[in-house]
Amino acid sequence: MMVAERKVADEVEGFRVTKKMKVNVKELKPKKAVLKIEDTNPYFVNSLRRIMLADLPKLAVDDVVIYDNTSALFDEIISHRLGLVPIPTDLSLLTFRNECVCKGKGCPNCTVRYTLSKEGEGTVYSGDLQPEEKTWAIKEDKIPILNLYNDQRLILEVEAVLGRGREHSKWQAVQAPGYIMDISIEFDKKNVGDVKKFVDKLPKDLGVEIKGDKILMKDDKKLPVLEYHLDKEKTGLITIKKDPTKLTFSFETDGSLSAKDAIAESAKFLQEKYAEFGKLLKNLK
Ligand SMILES: [Zn+2]
Repeated sequence: MMVAERKVADEVEGFRVTKKMKVNVKELKPKKAVLKIEDTNPYFVNSLRRIMLADLPKLAVDDVVIYDNTSALFDEIISHRLGLVPIPTDLSLLTFRNECVCKGKGCPNCTVRYTLSKEGEGTVYSGDLQPEEKTWAIKEDKIPILNLYNDQRLILEVEAVLGRGREHSKWQAVQAPGYIMDISIEFDKKNVGDVKKFVDKLPKDLGVEIKGDKILMKDDKKLPVLEYHLDKEKTGLITIKKDPTKLTFSFETDGSLSAKDAIAESAKFLQEKYAEFGKLLKNLK
């Protein structure tokens, strides 16, 4: 487990105190991460979440030249499907086309080219896109694009460029980023009998149990189900306390960026934005 710390300043009841943010990696897979972030607040984590959705760059197919298509599908449908193929993105090697030295013409600094040539009978997969350079080979190579029957042919060339989720969802590398706060479900011990009756009526798969004057849940993500049953019973016996300083943040990527790169690049983007804002503020008179 990795623990990273960062100093943050908070105003608490008029006193300026310095806390250390803690990040605990609960799960880190190539395409998925779950992080426990402590001594933070929802505003900070939500900024990261929104950057992941709207600003984190990734490669996607943006231009398709079809030389031959005798398949049953229109060129437009094939192009749309190619646009959604996750293209492995090394952000250290690429720049945006409109910021590139080639002035938007397309060069190896801003454009990755693939060719595809296949004849039926068989399925065309994402892995049939052949890159100019091996480093850009499609990793998610088993995504079916279309079926070719006898004598049908598909020959095309594509260009993939960097873009951001705010322009088009094909440039959105991260899916379902979200956070939940730590919860504590408490009740007055003198009501333990009534609470037990309520808990006994709950669905077993909710994984709820009583321990002392607290209710424990196997999976905190199922809290809305418990809240639904509390509402239905109109019982005021139980209090749910949420801690906005302790958050579990989870997200997945489509494979174009690793989960580790996705969060690191998003944090870098946020840092750059704050630095830019700070510079602009210095010019205020
Ligand atoms: Zn270029």
